[in-house]
Amino acid sequence: MQNKRFISADRIVVKIGTSTLIRQNSKINLKVIKKLAHVLSSLKKDGKDVVLVSSGAIGVGMGVLGIDTRPIKISKQQAVAAVGQAELMQIYNEAFHEYGMSVGQMLITRDIIDYPESHTNVMNSFQELLSMENTIPIVNENDTVTVSELDHHTKFGDNDQLSAIVTNLVDADLLIMLSDIDGFYSANPLKVPDAKLIDQITKINPDIIAAAGGHGTKFGTGGMTTKLKAAELILKHNQQMVLTNGKNPEVIFNILSGEPVGTLFTKNPQ
Ligand code: GLU
Repeated sequence: MQNKRFISADRIVVKIGTSTLIRQNSKINLKVIKKLAHVLSSLKKDGKDVVLVSSGAIGVGMGVLGIDTRPIKISKQQAVAAVGQAELMQIYNEAFHEYGMSVGQMLITRDIIDYPESHTNVMNSFQELLSMENTIPIVNENDTVTVSELDHHTKFGDNDQLSAIVTNLVDADLLIMLSDIDGFYSANPLKVPDAKLIDQITKINPDIIAAAGGHGTKFGTGGMTTKLKAAELILKHNQQMVLTNGKNPEVIFNILSGEPVGTLFTKNPQ
């Protein structure tokens, strides 16, 4: 049995990926969303500051519109995201209301990094939302306006990196990344049966990058590489990140009570 970790976190960012929110049959996983609402509402009621970064706009939109394969055309992806985002927020709204919480939708673009005025505006919004007693900000990329071509780079690229940027911005103590894998493995566990779950990572070195392998699911854009990029940003700012499986969001309670869940990225190994 591994030692307990010392995790002290008053301000927490939780990121949930499409693969955790959407079932294999393209239906939204309401059980996960309800549990997540319960856990985050309890943390907020305990006096913690909580931000949720949620993917799923395109995945949910595909379900609503009855589309099987993620569209290739960017404008089509944007339209699907517009439909899915509305549905997703409605579902979050209902789930959080059960616990007396409101949600605040924050759709952001890379402009918040490049333009000081946008940065200030988004910081002010975060500050106000975080100071509200019964409100949880839910962040996603503003998919209908972001592009990543020619000289326009308003896109973060993926929500793994977006969640790390948000963690930096709001100066959170911890980023909890809920995914469809139990943590970071020494090799792809689907291909290498004796791949080992790594308990803690202090540096993103070439061996770790090589172990990360390929891409994400048919609905999302992630995969291990984007998670490592996020971790790199977290370590650079001397923050901490736990990567773990989000199938039961109550795992967040275990993480905060110091149980050695998933992989902890930290500069201060414990
Ligand atoms: N913003 C995209 C969505 O909500 C997700 C991007 C990602 O999964 O990284 O579908």
